[in-house]
Amino acid sequence: MDDALDRVIGAKSATLLAEQLDVHTVGDLLRHYPRRYADQGQLTPIAGLTPGEDVTVVAEVRSCSSRRMQTKKGTIQNAVIWDGSHELNLTFFNQHRLPDTLTRGRKALFAGRVTTYGKKRILQLTHPRYQLLDGDAGELAEFSRPLIPVYPATKDLPSWTIQLCARQVFDVLDDPDDPLPAFLRAQHRLPGLGAALRAVHRSDDRSEIAAAQRRLKWDEAMAVQLTLALRRQEAALRPAPACPRRDGGLAAAFDVALPFTLTAGQRQVGELLAAELAGEHPMNRLLQGEVGSGKTVVALRAMLQVVDAGRQAVLLAPTEVLAAQHARSLREMLGDLGKAGELGSAEAATRIALLTGSLPARARKQALLDAACGAAGIVVGTHALIQDRVSFADLGMVVVDEQHRFGVEQRDALRGRAADGTSPHVLVMTATPIPRTVAMTVYGDLEVSALRELPGGRSTISTTVVPVGEKPSWLDRVWRRITEEVAAGRQAYVVCPRIGGDDAAGEDAGEDAGDGDEGGRPPLAVLDLVPQLAEGPLAGLRLSVLHGRLPGEEKDAVMRSFTAGEIDVLVATTVVEVGVDVPNATVMVIMDAQRFGVSQLHQLRGRVGRGSHPGLCLLVTDSPEGTAGRERLAAVAATADGFQLARLDLELRREGDVLGAVQSGRRSGLKLLSLLRDEDLIGQAREAARQLVEADPDLTEHPALARLAADLLNEERAQFLQKV
Ligand code: ADP
Ligand code: MG
Repeated sequence: MDDALDRVIGAKSATLLAEQLDVHTVGDLLRHYPRRYADQGQLTPIAGLTPGEDVTVVAEVRSCSSRRMQTKKGTIQNAVIWDGSHELNLTFFNQHRLPDTLTRGRKALFAGRVTTYGKKRILQLTHPRYQLLDGDAGELAEFSRPLIPVYPATKDLPSWTIQLCARQVFDVLDDPDDPLPAFLRAQHRLPGLGAALRAVHRSDDRSEIAAAQRRLKWDEAMAVQLTLALRRQEAALRPAPACPRRDGGLAAAFDVALPFTLTAGQRQVGELLAAELAGEHPMNRLLQGEVGSGKTVVALRAMLQVVDAGRQAVLLAPTEVLAAQHARSLREMLGDLGKAGELGSAEAATRIALLTGSLPARARKQALLDAACGAAGIVVGTHALIQDRVSFADLGMVVVDEQHRFGVEQRDALRGRAADGTSPHVLVMTATPIPRTVAMTVYGDLEVSALRELPGGRSTISTTVVPVGEKPSWLDRVWRRITEEVAAGRQAYVVCPRIGGDDAAGEDAGEDAGDGDEGGRPPLAVLDLVPQLAEGPLAGLRLSVLHGRLPGEEKDAVMRSFTAGEIDVLVATTVVEVGVDVPNATVMVIMDAQRFGVSQLHQLRGRVGRGSHPGLCLLVTDSPEGTAGRERLAAVAATADGFQLARLDLELRREGDVLGAVQSGRRSGLKLLSLLRDEDLIGQAREAARQLVEADPDLTEHPALARLAADLLNEERAQFLQKV
C-alpha cells in the first residue's frame, strides 16, 4: 500500500496523479474512490443526450471533414460518431485540431459537455476528450463493463485513465493488512479491506459496492473516534484538583437562597457535575441547552462547589459584553455570598473578579491581583483571557460559555492552565444545539449532557418573514409594531449585519453572507439606519447603538441602560447574538436577515421572549422568493426546535464547512463518511473505539488501527476536529 505508484502504472500516469490529485502511493490511489457509478446503459446511447449534460459515450468514428469558417479566419473540423443506432457530431476549432488518430472506423470513449449549434439545435460535443478502444481488447472489455466507476477527475486526468490505473494496481496487489480487528468486522458484518477496496473500484454489483463503502466508512469513522477516544483517555488520566462537595459551604447557602426550584434536568446535571468535580481526574463535559434553559445556574452551582473546596473557577465568555453581563448576573444571583471583603457580606462569601481587555488599568490590576492571590473565587473574562498570562492561585475549574469558535486544541490549552501539573475541570456550555454526530466528532473529546426543558413560565416566540421586496409597505408595519410594544412598556432590538461608518466589511456580517441575492448592495448598517429611524418611523423613542467598535466601557454602559429600561430600542450588530438577557425585550427585528446563518438567526431570536411577555421576531429581507436565503428564513420561521435547525444548518453550510479540510479540497481523511447520513455508523464506531481504548490504552494489540488514527492526525492536523 505504501509502494510508489510509478513502479506499478508507469511514470506518465503516476506523474499526472501526483500533480493533479496528490495521489502518490498505491494506497493513495486505492483510497481515491469513485464518486459514483454509471450504468453501461447510461454511458452509451446517443439518442438520450440533452444539452448541458457532461457525458461519456462509446462510439465509432463514421466520417471526418474539415472546412473554412465563413465569418472568421480558421477552420472547423468535424467528426461524426455512431453508437450503433444514432449519430453525434464532434466539433474541433482551430487550436484544438481533430486528432490524427481519430479516423474512420476507430472506436473510442468520448467525454465532454453536450452543446447545440444552428437553428435546428443539433447536438454536438466540442473538443471532447477521448480514449481509443480498438487498440486493446482488454480496454474495450474494461469500458464495456455493466458498471463504470466515475472518479473525481481533472481536465488532463479523465476518469477512465484513473480507472485503468486502478485496474493495473489490482493486477499486482497483495491483499493489504486489515486495520479493523476481525471481531469488529464480524460484529458489524464488514468485508475485509482488500475485498472492499476491490469492490469499490472493480465491482459490477451495486449492493456489493454499497457494502464495501460501508466498510470503508468504518475505517474513516474509526480513525476519528479512536483519535478522540485516545484524547479523552489521556485527559481523563491526568490528575485533577479534586473538589469534593462540602456541607455548610457557599454552594449549600446558594441553594437555600435560590428564588426558584431547579428543573429536573438542572438537578440531574448538577448531581453529575458535583460527582465529577469531586473526582481525582478532570471533568470534560459539554452542556447543551437552548437559550434560557438555565445553564448558567447549573454552572454557578458547580463553580461554588469548587470555591468551597478552596479553589478558583474561571468563566470565559466570547465577548466583553457577555463577560460583563455574566459578572453582573453572577453577582446578582450570589447577593451577599459574592461580596467577600465588603461590609455585611456573608461569612463564607467569595468575590467575583471581572477581567476584560478594555478594563481601566487600575481595575485590571486589582482583578489580576484578586485572581493571583485567590481572593476572587470566581474570575469572569473573555476567551482572550487564556492567551494572557493571568495567573491563578489555585485554578480548579474552567467554564466556557457559548464557544462556537472554540476548538479541541483551545480546550487542550485550557487543560494546561492549572498549577502543579493538574488539569482543571472543564465545562463547556453551548446554546447552539449540535447534531448528535457533530457532538460526537467536533466535541468528541467531551462527554455530553443536555438540558431539554425550559424553566416554567417561559413565553413563546413567533417568527415572521417580512419580504420587503414584494411587500414594501410591510416595513412600516414593522416599525409601527415596535412603537406599539414600546408604548406598552416593552423594548426592542433591531439587528443589522454591518456597523457602517467607514467600515468596509463589518465586524460580524452574517456567516452565510453572499447569496448573491442583494445585487451588489452593501448590507444594511447600524450607523446608517439609526438616524433614519430616529428622524422617521421611530422618532421620539429612545434609541441607542451597540456594536463591536465601541469601547468596552461604553458597550457595557449601553447594555446596562438597556437592561434598566432606559433605552427603548437597541440598534445593534450581532454582538447581541449570544447570552444577552433582558426579559423586558419583546421584539427582535433582523434587517437583511438573509445575510445571517440559521444558527445565528435562532440565537438572535432567543434574545426575546425571555420574560413573561411573548416574543416576536421579524426577519426583514428583500431577497426574492425561491432564493436560498429566503428558504433559510422560511425554515427558521417554521420551527423553534433548535436541534432541527442545527441539522438544517449543517446541511446548508455543507458538511465541508464543519469538516474544514474537506471543502478546501485538501486531501482529507474523510472521503465517504457523512455526518448527516452516517449517524448510526459513527455512533457504533464511537462505542467500538471507546471499548478498544479501554481494553488496550496504547492499542499495542492493534498496531494497524493505531496507524489509522495516527495517519488521520498527521494528514489533517485534526483540522476538522477543531472547526465548527
Ligand atoms: P442559559 O444560560 O441556558 O441561557 P440562564 O441560566 O441564563 O439560561 O437562565 C435564563 C433565566 O432563567 C435566568 O434569568 C435564570 O435566572 C432563570 N432560571 C434558570 N433556571 C430557572 C428555573 N429552574 N426556574 C425559573 N427560572 C430559572
Ligand atoms: Mg447563558
